[in-house]
Amino acid sequence: MKIKIVGGGLAGCEAAFYLLKKGFHVDLYEMRPQVYSPAHKTSRLCELVCSNSLKSISLHTGQGLLKEEMRLLDSLVLTAAEKSKVPAGESLCVDRELFQENIEKILFSFPKFNLIHQEITDVSENSIIATGPLTSSELSKAIISITGKDYFHFYDAISPIITGESINMEKAFWGTRYEKGSPDFINCPLSKEEYIRFYNELVNAETVILKEFEKRELFNSCMPIEEIARTGIDSMRFGPLRPVGLKNDVFGKSYAIVQLRREKIEGEAYNIVGFQTNLKYPEQNRVFQTIPALEKCEFIRYGAMHKNCYLDSPQILSSYGNLLKIPSIFFAGQIIGVEGYMESAASGIVVGINIARFMRNQDLIEFPKNTIIGSLMRYISQENNNFQPMNANFGLFPSDGIKYKDKNLKKDTIVMNALKSVREYVKLLEV
Ligand SMILES: Cc1cc2nc3c(=O)[nH]c(=O)nc-3n(C[C@H](O)[C@H](O)[C@H](O)COP(=O)(O)OP(=O)(O)OC[C@H]3O[C@@H](n4cnc5c(N)ncnc54)[C@H](O)[C@@H]3O)c2cc1C
Repeated sequence: MKIKIVGGGLAGCEAAFYLLKKGFHVDLYEMRPQVYSPAHKTSRLCELVCSNSLKSISLHTGQGLLKEEMRLLDSLVLTAAEKSKVPAGESLCVDRELFQENIEKILFSFPKFNLIHQEITDVSENSIIATGPLTSSELSKAIISITGKDYFHFYDAISPIITGESINMEKAFWGTRYEKGSPDFINCPLSKEEYIRFYNELVNAETVILKEFEKRELFNSCMPIEEIARTGIDSMRFGPLRPVGLKNDVFGKSYAIVQLRREKIEGEAYNIVGFQTNLKYPEQNRVFQTIPALEKCEFIRYGAMHKNCYLDSPQILSSYGNLLKIPSIFFAGQIIGVEGYMESAASGIVVGINIARFMRNQDLIEFPKNTIIGSLMRYISQENNNFQPMNANFGLFPSDGIKYKDKNLKKDTIVMNALKSVREYVKLLEV
């Protein structure tokens, strides 16, 4: 049996590897070197478009757990990365050329692997689309014609997400502006002095330099908080930080109010409303912690603004990665709303497993929910009115109802359960 995969990036190659091991013929279509995205530079498979870091290996991080789960699943990307690693402490960093060479060496060792350098401009059945955050425009149009334009996004403007337990509730209060709906927001007040200090830190903070193609269109669709601030000292007070409509402001009349909205993921996580930002990650820590209630806040995900094509997956995809409307069409990688190299690769494994089962008329299977990969697949497929790409983090796990005094004990328990479930899954399904 033959399967078509579009996109020779992290997800596409990982799915190809799984399918080849299972005896399928794979036609992998990669548009480079005929057509380049604005960020890719080489003609080789699995190009890392930016950093050479695949992030932490510590099991006390979502990234570390993700890698261990992928190891149990015999991940191509992890194997190639470990064969090409460069010393980098607690992170897995690679020599990117060697990494790509290792990926290709493994894939080309399968006689049923066929790499075709061609831009694909339509969507066909029995295929996986893994064309990533910079999917070519012709293919984007074809995807939109199937999904509808409301379900395909071109840009990402994400506000940071922080853990609930790191918010200082002695300096915050619950309430919704004009008492509309239930009081689901946490409000973080600032006095005039605190606001001015926050403003000064914000407008002078270091930002990420955007690529030309991102600069052109991104700011027109959504203004970063630091740019709003630059338009005038009071602009934020008339925008996302307006101190109005909150009758139960127990701190007296606040000069400005930052609102936190509960994320639609289980587990305690809050989005800082209207704080889409281009600040560098360490600057987000430093500047946003000047807000009194957030003085010790822990980030689950930092804010970011960049070009990023992704589906509104909760509306159109299953947790197996296929379209609800046309189940023979699968998507994998960043285009489904996972964020990051390893997350994209991991989704490639899940989708590889499921398209193999689909082709053999077997039932599709959900990845265990108490794993980081299962949590990501659940995240991309569960209802979410404000869906935005997500990386691997412990905030994705549903609460087990136990109050842990020691955070590390909680993480150890999560890790132990997750790895046990992956081992059982691998054994049961002979993946
Ligand atoms: C500018 C930028 C910087 C990033 N930096 C980081 C980072 O530092 N760390 C991190 O973890 N993540 C980073 N990411 C996210 C990262 O790109 C993704 O996490 C990861 O590469 C996605 O894997 P993927 O397989 O889904 O897509 P990709 O790795 O992008 O692979 C998709 C492939 O599909 C090909 N393709 C596209 N359209 C077509 C078509 N029509 N026909 C045939 N082939 C096609 C592309 O050429 C590409 O090779 C960055 C993303 C961007 C855009």
